[in-house]
Amino acid sequence: PSNTRVAVVTGGNKGIGFEVCRQLASGGVMVVLTARDETRGREAVEKLKGLGVTGIFFHELEITDASSISTLADFLKSSFGKLDILVNNAAVGGVEYDQELDTNEEKFGGLDFHQRVEWMLKNAQEPIGAAKKSVQTNYYGTKHVTEALLPLLQSSSDGRIVNVSSDYGLLKHISSEEVRQELNDINSLTEERLDEMLNKFLKDFEAGVLGPQGWPTKFSAYKVAKAAMNAYFRILARRHLAVRVNCVHPGFVKTDMSMRSGVLTPEEGARNVVKVALLPDDGPTGAYFAKGEEASF
Ligand code: NDP
Repeated sequence: PSNTRVAVVTGGNKGIGFEVCRQLASGGVMVVLTARDETRGREAVEKLKGLGVTGIFFHELEITDASSISTLADFLKSSFGKLDILVNNAAVGGVEYDQELDTNEEKFGGLDFHQRVEWMLKNAQEPIGAAKKSVQTNYYGTKHVTEALLPLLQSSSDGRIVNVSSDYGLLKHISSEEVRQELNDINSLTEERLDEMLNKFLKDFEAGVLGPQGWPTKFSAYKVAKAAMNAYFRILARRHLAVRVNCVHPGFVKTDMSMRSGVLTPEEGARNVVKVALLPDDGPTGAYFAKGEEASF
């Protein structure tokens, strides 16, 4: 029936995205679980069906691939004619590790959250390729998916975009006062300016001058891409008042991305995301949520 809400979740095959799919579908939303890998995506859908969850469909989506994005848009248009909820969840960490964090509970029962984070900070390596991929995926991929699905969201009577951001994307992580101010001045900021800033970031990255130029130096591409993503969605929120656009930090969650070093289960992290997706229709737009509450960028 056309009054059933339709949601798309990117990167729905595992981690937080998988749980967002499960929780939305359990709440009666028709969910298109998307994944870049067809096998992993279909397996995830089968797993949910095995748990008794109904109203879940699979569609392939590689968020950095324009033709994959337009195939999904065509599918949504012909199947539903609208989209009510877009959850931009897919992302990459932008770092590489040359060893696994051993999170064996028996052996590492005493290794607390802070020690695990310390391990990650010490062992994370950021080759330029991983940094570029993070910007391409976390910023441009998310932006391109949103642009392609926006007309369908505008066909909904209550369209919402929920962006799974991160507290790593908060402006406080960027020490350059100038960059921080520009990213926060949403009334003057443009998409072109965001492109220029990201290009400069990658140039400074390659030149080895991140610190002196006021960029973050650890998980730098992840932080900068998420900060740019937040800024982009604040611009979008201002422009499209009929579609509610918000960003949310899920919390620090035990997933593959965090090498299971988080404090929340994927179920708990996803709950923070789903809460924003299902806010009342007079709720905020252009806002940031952390720990289930509205907070500043
Ligand atoms: P996971 O690594 O478990 O899941 C990431 C998902 O994104 C996977 O489904 C992955 O697919 C998918 N993905 C990656 N690149 C692409 C791409 N190019 N196209 C389509 N899908 C892609 O991470 P989490 O569940 O932890 O992360 C989910 C979101 O939460 C991310 O946006 C992350 O930044 C954010 N977040 C996570 C935190 C945490 O503590 N875990 C903290 C703050 C924010 P595949 O399986 O094929 O790789």
